[in-house]
Amino acid sequence: MLTFQDARQLVIMQSQGHASPRPTQDLPVSDALGYVLAQEIHTDREYPPFNRATRDGYAVRTSEASQGAALQCTGEIKAGDNVCLPLMSGTCVQIMTGAAVPSGADAVVMIEFTRRSNDIVTFDRPTQSGQNIVPRGSEAHAGDLALSSGLRLGYAELAVAAQVGAFTVRCHKKPRVAILSTGDEVVPVTETPGPFHIRNSNSISLAAQVQLAGGEPVPLQNALDRVDDLAAKIEQGLREDVLVLSGGVSMGKYDLVESVLKGMGAEFFFDAVAMRPGKPTVFGRCGNTWVFGLPGNPVSTMVTFQLFALPALDILSGAAPRPLALLEATLAEPLKEKAGLTHFLPARLDWRASAPYVRALPWHGSGDISTLTCANCFLVVPADRPDIAAGEKVSVLPRFDVL
Ligand code: AMP
Ligand code: MG
Repeated sequence: MLTFQDARQLVIMQSQGHASPRPTQDLPVSDALGYVLAQEIHTDREYPPFNRATRDGYAVRTSEASQGAALQCTGEIKAGDNVCLPLMSGTCVQIMTGAAVPSGADAVVMIEFTRRSNDIVTFDRPTQSGQNIVPRGSEAHAGDLALSSGLRLGYAELAVAAQVGAFTVRCHKKPRVAILSTGDEVVPVTETPGPFHIRNSNSISLAAQVQLAGGEPVPLQNALDRVDDLAAKIEQGLREDVLVLSGGVSMGKYDLVESVLKGMGAEFFFDAVAMRPGKPTVFGRCGNTWVFGLPGNPVSTMVTFQLFALPALDILSGAAPRPLALLEATLAEPLKEKAGLTHFLPARLDWRASAPYVRALPWHGSGDISTLTCANCFLVVPADRPDIAAGEKVSVLPRFDVL
């Protein structure tokens, strides 16, 4: 059986080898959060475009503003003011943060380090040339690469695009991800479940995960555990870039997902991973659609989506697959798990101590979602290390929507 690392690598290799990123579209920069850039964006001018004051104070010539010196203040410059006149020798001007420093001045003295009497300003500290000024062009020259193709647009990237005037950005379309829950016991969240039914929480959590991953969820109706219903709904799902199924992949008599997919010509790259929860996870391809069959217990569905579907969505979105961001932490309480499988336990990573430490949360197994609302990560218990003492170092997988 594959380790989760090898299974994840297989997803990445297959997706990189055989998936092409989605076609592109032009979007207003204000609508482009979470999209992946399909063009390079260059700076339109120097940054900053003028010698910029970074403090409120006085623009001076350093040689004239030594400690104890006094200068006449001849005026003021606000952010946005046109600055044409050079600083006259023997004078200073009051200047505000973000304003252009006049030629001749080579330092800005913070107002806190001066005293003023009428228009005479006295300097309380030594002045260094260049202080509190960001020189024109020091952040970027005109035509420099500001944002590379393949970059996912977060708030900082959007700010850079806006700064350089890229009000329309060419991005890859989001991969469309069909979400198909399965199970005779599953009812829509809008219906009242019978005594032995459960509400369809997986379709909701999967759609949320798809959105957070930069995909476009396409929710389908739940499929019953019957070949005809499954086949019809899988067929709908195969119109999209990716089909994510929940449930129906275990060993039970009514776990029909894999056999129905096989009947429809699917090719499988793995159908088991040495992990808990998440062991029966299936990854394959059917026609042009990537298929993830995730186990139905909600926590299994969530962990396996993050481990396996997320990097495939990155690649289809036009980005590099995000790395598996495992953090190291100190275990707060001892652990004992069954050997042979890597366990992912809902856990809480805390920073109140000098180094991060982590505590597995009490839970009732992979059906217990309420525990996850207190968890910000999964504690990764390696297959060959079932007993871990308090104080030892362990790996944690942060929840990708929380940390
Ligand atoms: P399965 O993987 O089909 O054997 O499902 C395992 C368990 O996961 C079921 O017994 C349900 O309790 C739960 N489950 C399956 N599908 C869903 C769903 N869509 N939403 C919430 N829980 C589910
Ligand atoms: Mg089922």
